[in-house]
Amino acid sequence: MSSYILAIDQGTTSSRAIIFDDHLKTVAVSQQEIPNDFPKPGWVQMDAHEIYTSVEFVCLNVVQKAGISVFDIKAIGITNQRETTIVWDRATGLPVYSALVWQSRQSAELCEKVIRAGHAEKIRKKTGLPVDPYFSASKIRWILDNIENGQQRAENGDLMFGTVDSWLVYKLTGHQRHVTDVTNASRTMLMNIDTLNWDKELLDIWNIPESMLPLICDSSQVYGYSSLFGSQIPIAAIAGDQQSALFGQMCFDEGQCKNTYGTGCFLLFNTGNKRVESKNGLVTTVGWKIGDEVVYALEGSVFVAGAAIQWLRDGLKLISKASDSKEIAESLKDSDGVYVVPAFTGLGAPYWDQHARGAIFGLTRGTTTAHLIRATLESLAYQTYDVIEAMENDTGMLISTLQVDGGACKNDYLMQFQSDLLQTGIVRPVNFETTALGAAMLAGLATGVFSDKNELRSNYEVERYFEPVQSAKQVQELIAGWKKAVKATMEF
Ligand code: ADP
Repeated sequence: MSSYILAIDQGTTSSRAIIFDDHLKTVAVSQQEIPNDFPKPGWVQMDAHEIYTSVEFVCLNVVQKAGISVFDIKAIGITNQRETTIVWDRATGLPVYSALVWQSRQSAELCEKVIRAGHAEKIRKKTGLPVDPYFSASKIRWILDNIENGQQRAENGDLMFGTVDSWLVYKLTGHQRHVTDVTNASRTMLMNIDTLNWDKELLDIWNIPESMLPLICDSSQVYGYSSLFGSQIPIAAIAGDQQSALFGQMCFDEGQCKNTYGTGCFLLFNTGNKRVESKNGLVTTVGWKIGDEVVYALEGSVFVAGAAIQWLRDGLKLISKASDSKEIAESLKDSDGVYVVPAFTGLGAPYWDQHARGAIFGLTRGTTTAHLIRATLESLAYQTYDVIEAMENDTGMLISTLQVDGGACKNDYLMQFQSDLLQTGIVRPVNFETTALGAAMLAGLATGVFSDKNELRSNYEVERYFEPVQSAKQVQELIAGWKKAVKATMEF
């Protein structure tokens, strides 16, 4: 008899459902786009009802596409956009406001108030996070302040809060279960990442009643059953998208690191059972919890990565498709001292300069568009290098290999250059769908489809391994030039 796992990957721009077989091979995929609303500058909202109906659609559709019997689906795993905040009415199950998306800045003033009140250090100690509208706490506060009698209704126990995972489980179980997992809870700014419980002091700072909050669970366990397909299927995994990708990349051991090269880059570094406090502006987060095993991670992101390639294509019209950047970069023997710093929206870790703007350095009479293209592509690797350098400084560990995924990791030139800069190997797996894969693996572990991590490892297939070809000395000069370019950008 066959066993399949249904992974739901609920993202900011689309919902996806993927059926994996019991060797983690993709059987079918269904995807539906979902619109975002931008009611005011800096605000980003989604319709929570639409989030759920899109998930329902892709789940039903993917089973049809796969042509399998629903009785062979052994488990459902959920991975989701993190921090996005939904508040709904306990009696009706209806959202009381749109979902406030992670990018949304409408609660910036509330964060400033909390910082002015002197709580930032305490919050960072307990949660590993800087006070920022990005995380859920200020978004919940904002919703309670902006609906009628919000605080009163919350205190009466009439409202429920959830990140997208909680909302989906609540809907999929017919309003029976109100749960989340440690990875999602670690992004709310309300969970103490040492105790893995909601923290009374944090709740008081934001004045949020605990009765609104879901039960915090492991990332791999049966939370409840969905009757979406008629039969009862266990929902057996929940993990935030980046943590799920870390697991999907099988970065099970301390010191392992993955980078997703998408619009931006998301790097996660497994720090084992220790939480590491960053001195370089990285976030400390929970990687996963399975039974007694708790794994922590350091997280850093690059705001503009693949987006810089989109800029070459759509803004400057220098290339017609993103993948052309590889051949063009390879047509030159070197970048001839040209650097592009794509600080279009400021610089993230480890520089943290929100006022910085992009710059090009090292132009000569001989500079061509090919140099600009190559330097832009290389900027993804330099920015990744900077984040990994910060992670190595924070942990005192050196990464042995970097596991990669995301759209831009298909670019061989970029991967080779990344390997040279880091002087480490780069592992590119056959299956790029590491986010959904992580959720499927966690769900399979909870339901006996997989016996342990070793069995999971045996299914990992490397598509290509990149090894450094330039010497450490050669790249040191390149890196020194990049650092000068970043410094000059910040001073401009
Ligand atoms: P996201 O999930 O953030 O939307 P994806 O993982 O789908 O992103 O990756 C798309 C991004 O990767 C785009 O910004 C695109 O410019 C970039 N990209 C895609 N293919 C390549 C390539 N071959 N070389 C360089 N960049 C690429």
